Amino acid sequence: MCRSSLQFVTLFFGVVCCCTAGRSDTAKVAVRIYDYAGVPRQILLKAEEESSRIFETANVSLAWANCGVFKKGEETFASCQPAPGAFRATVKILPESGVRGLHRPMKELGFTIPGTSFVFFDRVHQASAFLDIFVVLGHVMAHELGHQLGLHHSPGVMSASLSHDWLLSAELEMLRFTPAQVREMQSHVQPFGGSMLSVARPRMSLAVR
Ligand SMILES: [Zn+2]
Repeated sequence: MCRSSLQFVTLFFGVVCCCTAGRSDTAKVAVRIYDYAGVPRQILLKAEEESSRIFETANVSLAWANCGVFKKGEETFASCQPAPGAFRATVKILPESGVRGLHRPMKELGFTIPGTSFVFFDRVHQASAFLDIFVVLGHVMAHELGHQLGLHHSPGVMSASLSHDWLLSAELEMLRFTPAQVREMQSHVQPFGGSMLSVARPRMSLAVR
């Protein structure tokens, strides 16, 4: 079921989540995104918008730098630079053929190491059956970026398991960062008004339950 249909049902019954975090200074995060999976451009752009929308509720502004689609034998990524003066993060979207070498469990849709998040597009596609793929992709990217901003697993966007309820909540725009998570991210990002490297964190992942 696509978002528009679900939202109609939700509005009809008057169940609307309108919660947002308290307003404060907006922190900026520059995200370089490398697409090794050949994600259709419109889907990728809408997924970025979805991630940005989620982070906006936490007063975190994402500035995306699309570093192109990987083409075998061509170096197209070298000149891709993030916006200056912001916390820097990297997202790499991988096809299943690129995931095999990482030896990640099949239930995982992505994982994060210091400075870089990996998102497994073919698994996201599978998890998106009957839902909008850009919604799931956007939420998985938000989850992994959350790890780069210092968050650990907890309910909501940062749930360790991707359940049916999690997907449905994502489709209905009901997943948010919690106030505690917002404070944690702000504490990571705010000190770095100038250029910086991401803070080292243990690897984490989002898995299908
Ligand atoms: Zn995770």
